[in-house]
Amino acid sequence: MIRVGVVGAAGKMGRQVLAAVAAAPDLEISCAVDPRIDEVTLDSSIVQAEDLTELPDGVADVLVDFTRPDAARQHLAATLRRGFHLVVGTTGIGPDELRELEAAAEASGANAVVAANFAIGAVLLLRFARQAAPYFDGVEIIELHHDQKLDAPSGTSIATANAIAEARAEAQAPELVDPTTTMVLDGARGAKAAGAVPIHSVRLPGLVAHEEVIFGAPGQGLTLRHDSYDRISFMSGVLVAIRQVPRRSGVTVGLESLLDD
Ligand code: NAD
Repeated sequence: MIRVGVVGAAGKMGRQVLAAVAAAPDLEISCAVDPRIDEVTLDSSIVQAEDLTELPDGVADVLVDFTRPDAARQHLAATLRRGFHLVVGTTGIGPDELRELEAAAEASGANAVVAANFAIGAVLLLRFARQAAPYFDGVEIIELHHDQKLDAPSGTSIATANAIAEARAEAQAPELVDPTTTMVLDGARGAKAAGAVPIHSVRLPGLVAHEEVIFGAPGQGLTLRHDSYDRISFMSGVLVAIRQVPRRSGVTVGLESLLDD
């Protein structure tokens, strides 16, 4: 039985993780952390805390973090140094934080899986985008999320742009060219990610998490789209990560490598 702690337990994702772990026969919830923990109804056998520092050492084998980018940047490396394996779904984790996590993992022997998107469809979209990238002259990404999302562009769209840029560089495809010479309104062409791939962020009530990658070449286009209509779409990936993180040495980035295991 793997003992799981949920950090951000009162949030939209944290509540889904609590339910998904409770329903898994090989996993159990041992602790839950959130400044709003009093808003969650939990069995009294579960250790409940408002702050990670209140957790006793060894209370969980794996902590699953779905908090906020600013909070996660503060506490992830310290939590890993305490010996908890980590599954990190919180987005906005950049290269600096990953380097810090790698150092903490090496020092403590605890492991981390960090994935900006735990939905299988999003992982496949990334794979297909990588495949298509060298064959088209242009590519742009539109990511669409609910109106509570704090970071932009989404971690998934940044990972997709990275994958496209890498695939194009490997295939020695020409650099992307933006034809715009006059920017009538700032930001009209989106944010330029790796390989100068533009990302456009949409935030609207009613949405969950959606991504569209549009490729163009003379006379043809290819659109790849993934939709998470419900947060349950992320749970199978989160459970895979919880089960694998204890035996995946160091820091694993992205769900893709876990699925191929
Ligand atoms: P939310 O605002 O509903 O929940 C966040 C929760 O974290 C809140 O309850 C908040 O009180 C709590 N929190 C804040 N600071 C904390 C701290 N220091 N310690 C413990 N708890 C703390 O947000 P959400 O929609 O659940 O999303 C959470 C994160 O997950 C976001 O970064 C979002 O982008 C990301 N996300 C990732 C995936 C994925 O597949 N990787 C999918 C959806 C959302």
